[in-house]
Amino acid sequence: MIRVRKSAVPPEVLRTKGARARRALTAAYSRAPRSYQSGRKSFEFDSGIYAHETVKQALREAQHDKCAFCESNFAHISYGDVEHFRPKGGWSQKEGEPLTQPGYYWLVYEWANLFLSCTLCNQKFKSNLFPLQTPTRRARSHQDEVSLEDPLLLDPAVDEPEAFISFRKEVPYALKGNRRGRTTIHILGLQRAELAEQRRKHLDHVQSLRDLVDIGVEPYATRARKLLQRMQHDSEEYAAMTRAFLR
Ligand SMILES: [Zn+2]
Repeated sequence: MIRVRKSAVPPEVLRTKGARARRALTAAYSRAPRSYQSGRKSFEFDSGIYAHETVKQALREAQHDKCAFCESNFAHISYGDVEHFRPKGGWSQKEGEPLTQPGYYWLVYEWANLFLSCTLCNQKFKSNLFPLQTPTRRARSHQDEVSLEDPLLLDPAVDEPEAFISFRKEVPYALKGNRRGRTTIHILGLQRAELAEQRRKHLDHVQSLRDLVDIGVEPYATRARKLLQRMQHDSEEYAAMTRAFLR
């Protein structure tokens, strides 16, 4: 996972339709908070707004066509899911715990809450899990402050993921065993076998290029050095692992 730098100005559809839809949601909640808390009423969200083509495009640019969590390139094989960092429909503090409703309905159209992710990171792993270090600080409605929360999941747009998670070869680990790094690796399944296999293949290439640099035969060494530099850019697949390996 690497830092994601989104454009300062949200896509227009979020500023216009998204802002209107948010007002309707918060008004509906204020009229009947208990019904939404008990699950008797639930919200409907408009994916035509939060997953609008312009939103996806802006996220693809900010994330260099990679999953915000596992850094896999997926643009050539799938559209990717627009993922809500704070879950929209309901949340669980722990795995296997029942869903608590409502979710973060007031952040459904919020630029800061949106990422593009691969289907596996989103649906199979993260799903509705959103643990906090201090569960009593949880924002339960639009009247509460999310800035008081202390999420255990790293936010790629706020946190510096590489200060929390590094790699031994292709295996991610939490630096000094930090809890946020550990939780993020676990919740997102960043150690899953298929992903580790892809990263290992990638690392084989990195390693071979470094050998070429070490052997020092020109012009191959210079070419390999340039390629290694490029492979460390944010735009490249598994940049965090490549950077960790070459450090
Ligand atoms: Zn992913």
